[in-house]
Amino acid sequence: MTVGFIGLGTMGFPMVTRLLAAGHELVVYDSSAPALHKATALGAEPADCPKGVADRADTVLASLPSPQISQQVVTGTDGVAEGDRVARFVDLSTIGAQSAQHISRKLARQQIAALDSPVSGGVGGAEKGTLAIMVSGPRAEFDAVRHVLAVLGNPIFVGEQPGAAQTMKLINNLMAAATLAATAEVMVMGVKAGLEPSVMIDVLNAGSGATHASRDKFPRAVLPRTFDFGFATQLMVKDIRLYLSEASALQVPTDLAEAIGRLWETTLQTAGPRSDFTSIVKPMETAAGVEIDGRDPGLPSE
Ligand code: NAD
Repeated sequence: MTVGFIGLGTMGFPMVTRLLAAGHELVVYDSSAPALHKATALGAEPADCPKGVADRADTVLASLPSPQISQQVVTGTDGVAEGDRVARFVDLSTIGAQSAQHISRKLARQQIAALDSPVSGGVGGAEKGTLAIMVSGPRAEFDAVRHVLAVLGNPIFVGEQPGAAQTMKLINNLMAAATLAATAEVMVMGVKAGLEPSVMIDVLNAGSGATHASRDKFPRAVLPRTFDFGFATQLMVKDIRLYLSEASALQVPTDLAEAIGRLWETTLQTAGPRSDFTSIVKPMETAAGVEIDGRDPGLPSE
């Protein structure tokens, strides 16, 4: 099996690094020349467009920043669908069920199988190979690529229906968004009341208020004021908008998701699209007139 990889960004690059280290020969493409250069410096073969990858690889993986870009990379001019060799396309991006179904239909016309395979676990998971990988599409295709996905994390088959794994991923991310937003709001409240941020996090983590946000995101990116967890605000906003769109099509309650969505839309406006999603605390801090600062005051600042 020859593997191709398109999209060598925050997630794609560490995944490519792992695949190369596991002995796969990779053909790669990214529209950013520096991103492409970084991967070829590790030994990957460069291609000059998505078709170039799909001409040389039977299995093409992608990790791209938006549904529009995934669709363009697959069905646009010089896209994956025009490739001579590709037999299956595995999209590791979060693009929503509708886009995954659209891609699956388009590729089926060229006898190319599609697996939607969004991932959870962040940059750390991509580096360590511990991502949760949700996969939907033909079972036989899942079985064919399982050993490749296993280099990146734990592949879980969600079902044959195209888009099912995307729906699962949006559910996962709404939960992550909810717990980060809730942790941010209570931390601002506690600091305003005079509580010590790092003590609050210790107590939450020892009690029933513990979440992934209190265990990992706050200690790593908010308390030290680094805001560098590795997931852009614009990606979080994309995922919440996709969740809201799918939930409203299903006519299910979205009161909580809408409130959470408004908080991140505010973060997008004030902190900017490329800000880290942990920046959600900043508009709350501004409104309250406090800062969640867990740095040791005894240490000299850099
Ligand atoms: P990113 O923006 O860091 O990387 C995307 C890469 O795609 C960039 O290198 C960019 O140059 C490239 N690209 C853009 N347009 C292209 C095109 N037309 N052709 C080829 N390459 C193109 O994004 P990321 O954080 O790596 O996220 C990628 C996907 O993974 C997104 O769908 C995101 O929602 C999902 N995801 C991210 C994380 C995370 O923690 N960052 C976690 C889980 C899932």
